Amino acid sequence: MNLPVADNESPDPVPEIPENVLEGSAVDIELRRQAVDDAKLLAAAWIANSLRMLALGRRVLEADREPGHLEKIVLAAARTHFHTDQRGAGLSESDAINMIEWNFQLISRALSMSDSIFAYVDGETAVQNTRGYFGSEFKVPAYAYAVSSIAFTADFPGLGPKCRAAVIIHQLAHFIDARIRDIAGAKGAAYCSLDLASALFNVHCYPNFAINVSPPFLDDRFGMMRPEN
Ligand SMILES: [Zn+2]
Repeated sequence: MNLPVADNESPDPVPEIPENVLEGSAVDIELRRQAVDDAKLLAAAWIANSLRMLALGRRVLEADREPGHLEKIVLAAARTHFHTDQRGAGLSESDAINMIEWNFQLISRALSMSDSIFAYVDGETAVQNTRGYFGSEFKVPAYAYAVSSIAFTADFPGLGPKCRAAVIIHQLAHFIDARIRDIAGAKGAAYCSLDLASALFNVHCYPNFAINVSPPFLDDRFGMMRPEN
């Protein structure tokens, strides 16, 4: 897994931020790029934890032995978020884990190529590109075109650090497959009643799972429903 370079290793000086920065100005874009770079570190850690934990879960199922502490955590999280106990006939639970693992590998690869995927758009462009999807009043910190690009808007830097990292994983999940959409929310009855086949296409399952299998291993959901966190 290619971890992004930390900000303090960058040779570029941090720009002074003048007051009254104009929307979409070079400084605004630079601020946004820094907010994304910072959030990438936490997103990358959550994704790396997901891959490591999924491999543990798959191996214990394949070996058909008693799961240890971490293995129990990942198998429970896979059931909570991806409903690996509600799967089609002929599919084993390790097959189900394998499908989740495959998507996280694609997410990890996309994040490692983020320099060529991430874009920073000005406010007008963002409004034009998203109006048809989200309406004009709704705040959109980022949006994705599958297998093409992820755009970050001026609303992104105002989010809390965990929300930012969750938004990055959310957008990476849209990016890897156009069928992965906002289909059942991040919690509630619709989320709980998914099966494996539908949960794999619910974008919210990816950040929720990644947080759940990262220390302190809580099912604590971050994202646009908690923008300040
Ligand atoms: Zn979405």
